[in-house]
Amino acid sequence: MSITRHGERLQVCCDTCPASYPNKYLAEDFGVMIADARTAGWIIRKAVPKRSDNDTTDLFGAAPRVAGRAVDEPYTHTCPSCISPNREGGLF
Ligand SMILES: [Zn+2]
Repeated sequence: MSITRHGERLQVCCDTCPASYPNKYLAEDFGVMIADARTAGWIIRKAVPKRSDNDTTDLFGAAPRVAGRAVDEPYTHTCPSCISPNREGGLF
């Protein structure tokens, strides 16, 4: 869970630590929230699902579609502190 809902507003939270982007946004401003967080140094990127190459199309013809909806949020959210782990080392 990396997007938290506070009543009507959404907030980006880090996937790896309890930090969260301080501003909260309405759902319709989701894109603005992502853009602002990125400007503040957050990394928000689409998590590429690992897909196996177990394709049986050549053996059985067109395989029947199994319900394969992603359950998890397909994005990763990383706060600036987690991007640069040597924050206690001062300025370089
Ligand atoms: Zn973090």
